[in-house]
Amino acid sequence: MTKPLILIVGAGPTGLFFAYQMLKKGHPVRLIDRKEHLSQETKALGIHARTLEILDQTGLVEPFLAAGVKGEGVAFYGKNHKTLLDFKHLPSPYPYILFLPQPVSEQILYDHLKTLGAEVEWKTELTKLENGICYLRKPDGSEEILQPDWIIGADGGRSRVREGMGVKFLGQGFANTFVLLDIQGDIHFSPHQIHVFLGHKDPITIFPFPPNMYRLAFAANASEQCDKSSYSLEFIERLFYERARLKLGSLQKLTWTSMFWIRTCHAEHFHKNNCFLMGDAAHVHSPIGGQGMNMSLQDAYNLSWKLDLVIKQASNKQILNTYEKERMYAICKILRTTEKITGLAFIASSWVRHLLSHLLYCFNLIPMFSKKISYKVSQLALNYCKCYAQSDNLFWSAPRTGARAPYAHLEDGRSLFDLFRSQKHQILIFEQNADISHLIKRFSPWIDLHLIGGKDVFKAYKNGPKSVFVIRPDGYIGYRSKVFSLEALEHYLLWVLNSSAM
Ligand SMILES: Cc1cc2nc3c(=O)[nH]c(=O)nc-3n(C[C@H](O)[C@H](O)[C@H](O)COP(=O)(O)OP(=O)(O)OC[C@H]3O[C@@H](n4cnc5c(N)ncnc54)[C@H](O)[C@@H]3O)c2cc1C
Repeated sequence: MTKPLILIVGAGPTGLFFAYQMLKKGHPVRLIDRKEHLSQETKALGIHARTLEILDQTGLVEPFLAAGVKGEGVAFYGKNHKTLLDFKHLPSPYPYILFLPQPVSEQILYDHLKTLGAEVEWKTELTKLENGICYLRKPDGSEEILQPDWIIGADGGRSRVREGMGVKFLGQGFANTFVLLDIQGDIHFSPHQIHVFLGHKDPITIFPFPPNMYRLAFAANASEQCDKSSYSLEFIERLFYERARLKLGSLQKLTWTSMFWIRTCHAEHFHKNNCFLMGDAAHVHSPIGGQGMNMSLQDAYNLSWKLDLVIKQASNKQILNTYEKERMYAICKILRTTEKITGLAFIASSWVRHLLSHLLYCFNLIPMFSKKISYKVSQLALNYCKCYAQSDNLFWSAPRTGARAPYAHLEDGRSLFDLFRSQKHQILIFEQNADISHLIKRFSPWIDLHLIGGKDVFKAYKNGPKSVFVIRPDGYIGYRSKVFSLEALEHYLLWVLNSSAM
């Protein structure tokens, strides 16, 4: 049987990660990019706990951790106080945010792609997509026309794949200019925290990142609407002092400046026929909140296991419809939150900001509040529960269908997440006497079965002694039941893994 042709347009982080996933699952891909090489712009700097968890499941987390710096939280500075929103209580093996510039993340993904024998076709541009036919301009200027079986639009905010699919990009923009300045030097603030200054003139934020670099991010006010060349080191020191009433440190070099208008948008659809949109082609976020690249990698992770099963004829094509359903839900939720936070960054009234920093200070003294906020920021709270609410038993307090499978320690010293690295469906059965031989026989290539117990798992899953959970290959709960029923479990598995999987 000839292998289907998967064309991935765009070798940014999304396209690289999706290509890596599909290659690992045994599917050759063509990955094209109109650029000559990887992007050099620092752009995304923070990798959240949830993204680190999926990098762990794909065997990539170690090089990321080795290259990055662990950030312990976000420090908010009011006029007279500092509040630290701490990540160390996150219920994850990665209770921090990893600071790493985007080019390093892309390089790691690219290097791993090459270990699987793949290469990006650089200087190759998709010039048109029409009725499933792709027109490519090759490096020598010639045209190639092809009809791939699957087309992945990972081609950024101005996606030509999206245009060819006839899909609208919906959203809004903020009027103010936003400025990012990457600076080398020794500054007076910890390289393990994000620093947000709210107490004085206008807000300003410092993001540290390796090696020994810092990004200043702020919304320019009317007197600062200047061009890139006006940002001298002296000007930056003065600007920081005006906004934070603190000295920045000794600056050596300004390495990158970016000025732009923030817009937050999402495509009306992420999937049409055999075409899928992911990453910035599907949604563009405000850089405040640092969610864009994280959400993009999670798109790729969500689709890769579903497309893998469909191509291997282990799943019906209808499972692909859940990609848009789930990711649209998650993206819209994040967009709403980051829009609100971005709105706050543009608040001109220092009185309102003063109040805000006080509220943050007071609420942060309540552990439940600070845990909830850090859980959200780290994307651990993201879930697809609302997509499955109709079929779920809402009177049971255990983690719901669509929720991220909670992290827990097993009795043998391993963690539950160690099991997830096989990227198969994990069936966690708490009923020790359950007869599961039939399930093994029927679904064994696609599932791992565990008769499971232990205090920590019981606590995390708030389950009864007879319950059962199915964890999908992307680490979300696909099915749960308070009582083990072979028939009901098999019914779910037959929906995800059709009977031709036998
Ligand atoms: C200034 C800035 C700061 C940011 N800060 C953060 C942050 O702190 N945290 C965070 O998570 N995110 C941040 N982001 C967002 C993050 O950079 C993006 O979400 C991420 O780059 C998306 O990756 P992508 O692969 O989907 O798209 P891109 O990185 O845009 O890659 C798309 C690729 O497609 C290629 N391409 C486009 N059209 C074609 C075509 N027709 N044919 C062939 N190839 C094509 C392009 O050359 C490009 O290489 C920031 C973005 C910007 C601009």
